[in-house]
Amino acid sequence: MTELQVGRCLAVWEELCGDDERDLDVSEAAYHGSRTRYDADRGSVILGADAYAGVGASANARMSMQACLAHELAHMLRAELGFNRPFTPPDVHLDEAETSIHASFLDGVPLRDREDLVEDARDRLFDWLAFPKEESHAN
Ligand SMILES: [Zn+2]
Repeated sequence: MTELQVGRCLAVWEELCGDDERDLDVSEAAYHGSRTRYDADRGSVILGADAYAGVGASANARMSMQACLAHELAHMLRAELGFNRPFTPPDVHLDEAETSIHASFLDGVPLRDREDLVEDARDRLFDWLAFPKEESHAN
């Protein structure tokens, strides 16, 4: 990712965060193959080279940089709200779906990105449904 692209990401991040300043770690963005992700232990979002990917068949791969950052910000906000969902399949797929829907409600996310986020959520719900699960006796 170029410096100009990093600058654009920071501007979008600031706009998404509004009055609540949150950290976006850009120290890995220049490295090829680095991933954009929310780091729960550090409580911060790390910008990776893939934020500008935008190619591929799935809704997740097609997401714009803005939608990608909105999704990661939603992870951060949900952690602050106390959500503590499983990080393993199948239920991690539900957490990812919820996160994308949460992101679709953030201020300043344009309709096109909202649609991609909701499509991403739908794909993750399909992932959950398709995952072989053991019978639960909880309910
Ligand atoms: Zn995610």
